[in-house]
Amino acid sequence: MRTTTVVIGAGHGGLAMSRCLSERAIDHVVLERSEVANSWRTERWDSLRLLTPNWQCRLPGYAYSGDDPDGFMTMPEVVDFITAYAKDIAAPVQSGTTVTSVRRSDDGYRVTTDNGEWQCDTVVLASGAFNVPRVPAFAHALPATVATLTPNEYRNAEALAEGGVLVVGASASGVQIAHEIQCSGRQVTLAVGEHVRGPRLYRGRDIQWWMEAAGVLAERYDEVDDIVRARHVPSMQLAGSPDRATFDLNALTAIGVTLVGRFAGIRDGRTQFSGSLRNKCELADLKLGRLLNALDEWATANGVDADTPPPHRFEPTVVPQRPILGLDLTDGSIQTVIWATGFRPDYSWLDVDVLDGKGMVRHDGGVVESPGMYLIGAPFLRRRNSSFIDGARQDAQELIVELAAFLDRRTR
Ligand SMILES: Cc1cc2nc3c(=O)[nH]c(=O)nc-3n(C[C@H](O)[C@H](O)[C@H](O)COP(=O)(O)OP(=O)(O)OC[C@H]3O[C@@H](n4cnc5c(N)ncnc54)[C@H](O)[C@@H]3O)c2cc1C
Repeated sequence: MRTTTVVIGAGHGGLAMSRCLSERAIDHVVLERSEVANSWRTERWDSLRLLTPNWQCRLPGYAYSGDDPDGFMTMPEVVDFITAYAKDIAAPVQSGTTVTSVRRSDDGYRVTTDNGEWQCDTVVLASGAFNVPRVPAFAHALPATVATLTPNEYRNAEALAEGGVLVVGASASGVQIAHEIQCSGRQVTLAVGEHVRGPRLYRGRDIQWWMEAAGVLAERYDEVDDIVRARHVPSMQLAGSPDRATFDLNALTAIGVTLVGRFAGIRDGRTQFSGSLRNKCELADLKLGRLLNALDEWATANGVDADTPPPHRFEPTVVPQRPILGLDLTDGSIQTVIWATGFRPDYSWLDVDVLDGKGMVRHDGGVVESPGMYLIGAPFLRRRNSSFIDGARQDAQELIVELAAFLDRRTR
């Protein structure tokens, strides 16, 4: 089969590209191994809601139109939203089709699937940035009596064994899961490494509103000092709960979660937690202060102070006087370990030399280092919000310009 562009993945990123391709009448197909919005259907826990407000669910030619713009969608609502988008834009999705190989060919790319082969001029990698959980190599040293889960396996606290739970990682997934499990009556210990602290509300408005209004989310990849570092910054400690609660470490301490340092290794059946907890928390407090300073400066410069409550600061993170440095994993006090230590993409099917030593695609703002290949959905692809639903909107609109120009050059 032949088409001009093959888009791999029917999440919101692939669909946003599909909309932009259709708008320019570029013949294409969207290949999806499962169904539209597969990640949201199969890889998220039951209680998860978007941490971005509904009003920020905007895609090319489509936006949230419900009656709760300041609310946060549940997973079934996200699936409905993305499925409705696919229908609205009449995306040419071929579901149940797994891409098993992408190779260069004489005149473009050959895309092999478990459902036939495609020849095309251009390829869009929209297969997701969060396919495989990152679990530290020392995880294999956990005693067999301790159950282990990753966030995309975790469904709810009730499915866990009774007893203590060690949640590793204090970014958005880790703090939400720790909160839910502690509320279920199980004692949670949270291993905290580098993290980004964020309040849900600041001066009466959602933090996402502030960051969008002040231009933080739109900051471009070619404007930041260190894009490699920026692409690895952990997600902000946010959750989209109906009560608009803040999910920082102080909130977790208040419900009884025990904070420990970064989980650095296992020796003789004991965990080794880093002694850096206080430093990590002080750094996160400092960075939150800097962010709020920037937002306040923007508010003053843009006349927002008059109709907004005055600036204020949050209590510093309360760190235990003497954080625990080790826990016995063999005495039954920890029944489950949850690795909320991040994710990486899966490009095991990509047979084109575009991956760096860490398995990440080499690209310049989504223009991959192989002619006619494009990437969407990766952290800080073109902007700080590139991995959010809202970020795909502008990224797709800019990438289509690159892709169309490439096709024009080829024709000429
Ligand atoms: C826990 C969690 C919470 C998040 N919360 C938010 C939030 O609140 N707000 C927000 O805006 N963003 C959020 N995100 C980020 C982001 O929106 C999602 O990761 C989103 O799913 C990314 O969209 P995507 O289209 O790039 O990739 P995906 O949604 O992952 O879509 C990729 C698609 O490609 C398919 N695929 C993969 N490999 C193949 C293959 N070989 N062949 C065929 N198909 C393939 C998959 O089945 C999948 O359907 C969250 C992410 C996570 C992990």
